Amino acid sequence: MSTLFRGVHLLELDGDRGMSPATDVLVAGERIAAVGPDAAALAPADARVIDGHGKLLMPGLINAHFHSPVNHMKGRLDSLPLEIFMLYESPALEALRPTPREAYIRTQLACAEMLKTGVTAVQDDAFFIPEPTADIIDAVMQAYADSGIRVSLALDEPNLPELDKLPFLKELLPADLRAELAKPRAFGMESLLGMYHHLISRWHGAENGRLRAAVSCSAPQRVSIDYFHALDDLSRRHGLPFYAHMLETKLQRVLGHERFDGRSLIRYVSDLGLLSSRMNIIHAIWVDEDDLDRIARAGSVIAHNPISNLRLGSGVMPFRAIRKRGIPICLGTDEAIADDAVNMWAVAKMAGLIHNIAGPDYESWPHAREILDGLLRGGARAMGLQDELGLIAPGRLADLTLVDLDTLAFSPLNDLHRQLVYCENGSSVVLTMVAGRIVFDDGRLTTLDEPALRAEARELFAARAPALRTAAQAAERLLPFYRAMYAKAAASDVGMNRWVGDAGPRH
Ligand SMILES: [Zn+2]
Repeated sequence: MSTLFRGVHLLELDGDRGMSPATDVLVAGERIAAVGPDAAALAPADARVIDGHGKLLMPGLINAHFHSPVNHMKGRLDSLPLEIFMLYESPALEALRPTPREAYIRTQLACAEMLKTGVTAVQDDAFFIPEPTADIIDAVMQAYADSGIRVSLALDEPNLPELDKLPFLKELLPADLRAELAKPRAFGMESLLGMYHHLISRWHGAENGRLRAAVSCSAPQRVSIDYFHALDDLSRRHGLPFYAHMLETKLQRVLGHERFDGRSLIRYVSDLGLLSSRMNIIHAIWVDEDDLDRIARAGSVIAHNPISNLRLGSGVMPFRAIRKRGIPICLGTDEAIADDAVNMWAVAKMAGLIHNIAGPDYESWPHAREILDGLLRGGARAMGLQDELGLIAPGRLADLTLVDLDTLAFSPLNDLHRQLVYCENGSSVVLTMVAGRIVFDDGRLTTLDEPALRAEARELFAARAPALRTAAQAAERLLPFYRAMYAKAAASDVGMNRWVGDAGPRH
């Protein structure tokens, strides 16, 4: 199957033009076969021809940090700080165990939203309630397989008890709750590694490499050192990205004082020898200069989720300090109850704006081109696919997004990079291709029946609403103690401030 794009402009991130003059691109099988005047001559007679006149062909957008299991929970919660939010988001209750069909449908909901807006790849740091099972992993991966999107999926599962993961709780909780939160997790390291074995042997490399595995520790404070090392071994052996949330909140910086001899989480991981170029450090908000130097030396990538960071009041990531060190940045939505859309254009715009209030030195504010670099090349680097994605050139994988420039977002066209970041919302995307297959075309997904999907999702998750309400009530027991923990952490002096305005403590 071949596709010939005729007369398209190609996005250029380097140089001053923004985009190329009109040209042709031939896709053969899953890869780009030719770019330029020869492409049409090389096209087989049965190639599908797409008229690209007045359109921009760009590498597909990459959602580099995402958690699919709460795709059905968008808009469900008020804005809350992470540690309180998590009480409601993912309690490990039997009543919240999904059926394989629910897992399949909820996964496809976000696939539809992403493919329609030109997102061709996603890194899903999936957690499983109450624990990962082969049938739910299979349901999630089958949804990705059927939707046509490219995915790397990890199992975001801690193996330590709740009490070890958070500061102050030991003193704050009454004895019965303390004992409950100190219980070892029923699903331990060996079971988790067994699930990784299933994920990797069944799915890694499936669909000609479109489906891949990754590994995740969730966050370093949530796993034992031996499990952390075991995950790093898996990541190294199979060449998989390693996802780790680090210093998303001030409370996580405070935890370092209590549990890691005053070291930051980054320093702790660095001392374990586990910072690597495979690692995606998710958030990196409450980082200091030493942390960033260590990340730069290790060659890790930072996953930036500016909308989630605002929704959960986590703080503002030090964008310029990261860029100055040459640390690659990729962009993500995070999850659908912390964004709550799965729209990478909105994420790009927020990333392009939020750092302008970091300080008055306007020359350090982000440029649109830097945001596009994170969205496209940063995402490819995070996936370990920097030689396959992120560029339209012969030999690269044909993960492509066709953007109509005859829309209000680009009329008149003053500066393509800025208008992609600040004007576009995804509605100008007219075609999405993943691995050479057209998955969205002229307003319609070709791989799934969207009206049927929406109808089934409404029905399935309306039936789930009582279980979610019961789970929320169960969280109320812990709320006063978590609130006290949060307040204590917020009042601590950690030598930095990542909140804006007057509310945060200053050093
Ligand atoms: Zn996350």
